[in-house]
Amino acid sequence: MPTYKAPVEDVTFLLNDVFHMERYGNMPGFADASPDVVAAILEEAAKFAEEVVQPLNRVGDLEGCTRHADGSVTTPKGFKEAYRQMIDGGWVGISVPAEYGGQGLPSTMTTIVSEFIASANLAFSMYSGLTQGAIAALLHHASVEQKRTYLPKMTTGEWTGTMNLTEPHCGTDLGMLRTKAVPQADGSYKITGTKIFISAGEHDMAENIIHLVLARIEGAPQGTKGISLFIVPKFFVNADGTVGARNGVMCGSIEHKMGIHGNSTCVMNYDNATGWLLGEANKGLNAMFTMMNEARLAVGLQGLTQSEVAYQNAANYARDRLQGRSISGVKYPDKPADPIIVHPDIRRALMSIKSFNEGARALVLWTALRADIQHRSEDEKARQAAEDHMGLMTPVIKGVLTDTGFANTVAAQQVFGGHGYIGEHGMEQFVRDARITQIYEGANGIQALDLVGRKLGRDGGRAITAFFNEVSSFVKANGDEAMKPYVAPLGEALAQLQQATMWFMQNAMKQPDNAGAGSTDYMHLFGLVALAYMWAQMAKTAQDKLKEGANGSEERMKAKLVTGRFFMERVLPESAAHLKRITAGADTMMALPAEAF
Ligand SMILES: Cc1cc2nc3c(=O)[nH]c(=O)nc-3n(C[C@H](O)[C@H](O)[C@H](O)COP(=O)(O)OP(=O)(O)OC[C@H]3O[C@@H](n4cnc5c(N)ncnc54)[C@H](O)[C@@H]3O)c2cc1C
Repeated sequence: MPTYKAPVEDVTFLLNDVFHMERYGNMPGFADASPDVVAAILEEAAKFAEEVVQPLNRVGDLEGCTRHADGSVTTPKGFKEAYRQMIDGGWVGISVPAEYGGQGLPSTMTTIVSEFIASANLAFSMYSGLTQGAIAALLHHASVEQKRTYLPKMTTGEWTGTMNLTEPHCGTDLGMLRTKAVPQADGSYKITGTKIFISAGEHDMAENIIHLVLARIEGAPQGTKGISLFIVPKFFVNADGTVGARNGVMCGSIEHKMGIHGNSTCVMNYDNATGWLLGEANKGLNAMFTMMNEARLAVGLQGLTQSEVAYQNAANYARDRLQGRSISGVKYPDKPADPIIVHPDIRRALMSIKSFNEGARALVLWTALRADIQHRSEDEKARQAAEDHMGLMTPVIKGVLTDTGFANTVAAQQVFGGHGYIGEHGMEQFVRDARITQIYEGANGIQALDLVGRKLGRDGGRAITAFFNEVSSFVKANGDEAMKPYVAPLGEALAQLQQATMWFMQNAMKQPDNAGAGSTDYMHLFGLVALAYMWAQMAKTAQDKLKEGANGSEERMKAKLVTGRFFMERVLPESAAHLKRITAGADTMMALPAEAF
């Protein structure tokens, strides 16, 4: 059976030593997040994830969700009780402002807790994850009255949230959506239409479900300019805040799918359901983007979580499984064979995954702290810079962490040989569960296009210029002998990324297919540079700590330095191949007629 151990020490190293969370103390919520409080939260979250949520992962996969004739859905055995513990622990709303019943802690803390819970059980984590996205949309766009009505119960987790974009004929191209909203005399709307693939659309764990639904108001313009966002509760909310009569929204069926069986993926039928406008009419995509950007980062994190849990199990297996002898001489003569961890090829897999996981965790936390600056800093310039950073990094984190996260679950499965393919060890579930992360919240091809087509050129390239400056300043400031193995390759990859950016500027305007053809490579090249920058910072911190006499963490710091070097030597060189493919342009890709495929 698979196991999971939350990476508490690694998170603590990143927060305290690499990113110096104490420096953010002047922002709301950070003063409350003292090292002691953070340590207590991490310990409790780890315990909850490891002991309550993880044991349900396999159950959820085998049992899945069941829809009944009345449209109700039951979740797998144990989910409801575990979710009750999630509510009792106050985990859903730890970063929601206190006025709505949350703890007001930095959203970085939510990110960390989400990593632990999603590693333990991705399907389970989605119920609260979507609620957190819906809370973000309500916090930014809802009226005072709407906030008062919905936020307190969503903050506790007693009510969950969903996002309803997709329809049978439109996924990526939301401009085609048909769900319609008819204005009523009392200011509400009647919503009619069918949404498909709605995660956590119906289930038995919450008293109410608050659906955020994209629809077109009768007579609104066609295309994306005529889309509005509505709040459609499953049950109406009475004036005293209690749950009232049933609204006209039902789960028509649940999808049978490749993975995340414990999460109910629903067809939702809206039949004259009553909804209320969230934000401005015809500006629904803007409002939904608040939720989607949040969700994209959360899905990027999901890629890391499956990579992490798959890695942990592969590393344990590699230490135990006896097969063959080391090519450099027998290592365990008293055993019938050596454990497979002696074989370089097994280590290639494990080190590749490990170096990605630790770099990706740093990238996620670095960006989570920027998200807190964006929303909490009083310094306008800092807020602006953080917003730029978020815009640039969101597609990179979503696309790269899920593409590589999925590939890593396959590599970890490979460590098990045939035992990874059969169900018993749980490795094939990680592969199946991780696969969706590349698809939902905007398929990864779309993330790459967002990066190249929208984010690079925005505000005259302000965000990308700031990123280039930040990384090259770090490289220049750390040119000493000890740091050379880290900053020299980082500088080289940065130059390749700059070259690719320049190539787009010169070749994509006159031939847009050149941008489309190179966008996925560009996104991965960007991801490699960002991860290498994280590794260079972690290496610098580890070296400093070792100089200061690392206080019991010597072995971990030495391991960091080795893992960082591995990343620079064996993972980062992919950057050259990406650049080569980008600069090859679109010609051969676009030359054949459709019939030739
Ligand atoms: C398990 C699951 C859960 C989901 N949960 C939700 C949910 O909670 N709420 C919700 O609203 N939706 C949800 N979705 C829907 C999901 O977000 C969509 O499936 C996804 O956005 C892609 O849309 P599509 O499936 O219609 O693919 P399409 O839009 O048909 O795309 C097909 C392929 O073409 C590519 N493509 C499309 N347009 C372009 C273009 N212009 N340029 C280049 N390539 C392009 C895409 O990248 C993709 O690879 C879920 C889906 C699944 C499977």
